[in-house]
Amino acid sequence: MLVGCHVSISGSIDKAVDNAVERKCSAFQIFTRNPRGWHAKELTDPDVKNFKEKLSANKIDRFATCAHMPYLPNLSSPKEDGFEKSVSSLIGEVERCGKLGIPYLVTHLGSHLGTGEEAGIKRLVKGLTKAGQVKNDVMILLENTAGQKNSVGSDFAQLGEIFRQLKPEKKFGICLDTCHAFVSGYDLRTEKNVKETFKEFEKHVGMENLKILHLNDAKGEIGCNLDRHYHIGLGSIGKEGMTAVIKFISKKKIPIILETPIDDTRDDFENVKIVKELA
Ligand code: ZN
Ligand code: MN
Ligand code: MN
Repeated sequence: MLVGCHVSISGSIDKAVDNAVERKCSAFQIFTRNPRGWHAKELTDPDVKNFKEKLSANKIDRFATCAHMPYLPNLSSPKEDGFEKSVSSLIGEVERCGKLGIPYLVTHLGSHLGTGEEAGIKRLVKGLTKAGQVKNDVMILLENTAGQKNSVGSDFAQLGEIFRQLKPEKKFGICLDTCHAFVSGYDLRTEKNVKETFKEFEKHVGMENLKILHLNDAKGEIGCNLDRHYHIGLGSIGKEGMTAVIKFISKKKIPIILETPIDDTRDDFENVKIVKELA
């Protein structure tokens, strides 16, 4: 199975690989830069070289790596300047991933800020389509949302609708977050629930489009729309549901990435280990 967690690039980008190896990850996710600002420092040739060399030295398949977009961009923004900045940022990240050989870039779908879903989706599709023009082999993955106020894409039918508007097809895929799905109302607590939820996903989005799974248990109850991740098996989804998801996804060789908290209960080392045990 391919499993790992989000790792820090603090120090230099190749440190991410060390952090992943230390945590016994066969897959991992990074921010290619500080996620809290708009500015991205250029990647230097040594940055790229060191990252790639460490990946191959540790036999980590680049197709088990992904990057996540920074926090500030809002691709559904009705504000012209905010939207333009967000699209530039997305294009920048697609280019950075291309340099690093990272094949997948996970993005949130943004907030329409009260202008309505239709308006938000129109902006979103426009922005994604523009970034889809970048000529490299990086695929932009749309992540399902927790269904917070003014967000789009928590509902699989709507996610599929957005996805099918995007061209060229080979530039786009999906990242499914189990916490987000659960708090949006998709039950994952039993093996039967998991089967049914993935059947819904297959019907509206298609399993062949699922490139990365964000495996997170949920702090909140089903349908609460609260985006709070929790330790694997200890949240509202629980051990049975998490186990069923892990088994189903690892059979398909889709990389499993944890975005679980680090606190007194557990750290990333332990959550990665637990996933392997549950498998
Ligand atoms: Zn995310
Ligand atoms: Mn996620
Ligand atoms: Mn989340």
